[in-house]
Amino acid sequence: MEDLLKEKWNGILNDIRIEFNITNVSFNQWLKPLVVFGIEGNTVLLLYDDNEGAELGIKYLDKHFKKALSAFISEAMDEEYEINFFSPVEARAYTGKKREFVQQRNLASTTMKNISLNPKYTFDSFIVGRNNRFAQTAAFAIAERPGTSYNPLYIYGGPGLGKTHLMQAIGNYINETRSDLNILYVTSESYTNELIDNLRTTQNATAMRQFREKYRSVDVFMIDDIQFIVDKHATQEEFFNTFNSLYEAGKQIIITSDKPPKDIQKLDERFTSRFEMGLMADIGLPDYETRKAIITRKLEENDYDLAPEVQEYIAANFKSNVRKIEGALNKLIAYSKLQKKPVTIEVAIDELQNLITPDMPREITPQLIIEVVAEHFNVSVDQLASKNRYQTIVRPRHIAMYLCKTMTSCSLTAIGKLLGGKDHATISNGAKKIEDEMDMDQELKKQVEAIKKKINPN
Ligand code: ADP
Ligand code: MG
Repeated sequence: MEDLLKEKWNGILNDIRIEFNITNVSFNQWLKPLVVFGIEGNTVLLLYDDNEGAELGIKYLDKHFKKALSAFISEAMDEEYEINFFSPVEARAYTGKKREFVQQRNLASTTMKNISLNPKYTFDSFIVGRNNRFAQTAAFAIAERPGTSYNPLYIYGGPGLGKTHLMQAIGNYINETRSDLNILYVTSESYTNELIDNLRTTQNATAMRQFREKYRSVDVFMIDDIQFIVDKHATQEEFFNTFNSLYEAGKQIIITSDKPPKDIQKLDERFTSRFEMGLMADIGLPDYETRKAIITRKLEENDYDLAPEVQEYIAANFKSNVRKIEGALNKLIAYSKLQKKPVTIEVAIDELQNLITPDMPREITPQLIIEVVAEHFNVSVDQLASKNRYQTIVRPRHIAMYLCKTMTSCSLTAIGKLLGGKDHATISNGAKKIEDEMDMDQELKKQVEAIKKKINPN
């Protein structure tokens, strides 16, 4: 099989290039470095053969071309295949026990097991402003008297605004002041993965019991980014039981998320009321003064100084994400160390240019469209690609066809392949249906416009 695929490989890549109308530059950058590394079961292992570019390349391929590659390979080989990308480093670590390795890699890409607390995330290093004062006060109260004041504490806010920092500050504080207490910090992703791992790999009940004991014996339970919890019944059931058992025992629970509980669609409803029993604290965008204070603080931590006008320039231009402020500072510090020159305002403007200008318009691929449509209608990508005739699936499927046809230059055949191997007439009919109906149905038209905005906000 491997040999057959290797033989067909260049042809497959070429088909994808033509069907998706991929430019030479894109092709050379993303697809050409791919080498067939092996086949394991129904997974094709593709090596991204470029040391430097592998991380970025694999991320990009995962997002844009994984489905296409899988569809085209499956077709060429006449058998269903999934794709797994490898970097050269990973390929070298590969020891021959292929299946195990693939599983580990699947886990490793989503899990970071046993993350311990980052000692830098303390209350001391957390700058308080109007945007986070309430959350910080609540967090500090909990750190001083865990389990007794607010339970659970639910912190929410946009990316890079300090949720993880604040949560871990509680952990670090309790670690120092109450060595008798058992603290556990997990991301909801690693929690889910650990759980699934236990459910899947264990024949006997011992490991599962240990898992439960581990989670139910903690005094302070922190779960970060709850929005990533998997919407599988078993996962939420287990989490629900853990939550209740800790809550009833008066143990402190702290949760973070990018949105309030009622806005997390896949979260089972019973959580919403449970979470709202405690304290909800949101973190908003820092104002200018707070941003300035954060910059000053980060420079102190780095034992570095920047001219006041450069600091002001950063504070004025990085408004919505503290992580990006740190990125800007790191870039300038690195510049000045490498060039052995001070950072003038001109240098800052020049160096930070591409961090400030809004992200490049994201490339619109059928895969992206299908994912957005699925999310919009709360159905799965697999359902869209299935033959299911329920109206709740058929309508979104037709909309996906219409949007793929009108928003990309891909061939209808290629779009059909991504949607479960439908032929080009099916795609054309589906798209036409939406086009016709939109003329008469204003609601539908509005809905399609809304989805378009999600796909391409610019
Ligand atoms: P989130 O979890 O909300 O995405 P993080 O807690 O990871 O964000 O914060 C991103 C980075 O910004 C971290 O390095 C953190 O130390 C820093 N940061 C965020 N808010 C503050 C603040 N108020 N004071 C100091 N540093 C902050
Ligand atoms: Mg975080």
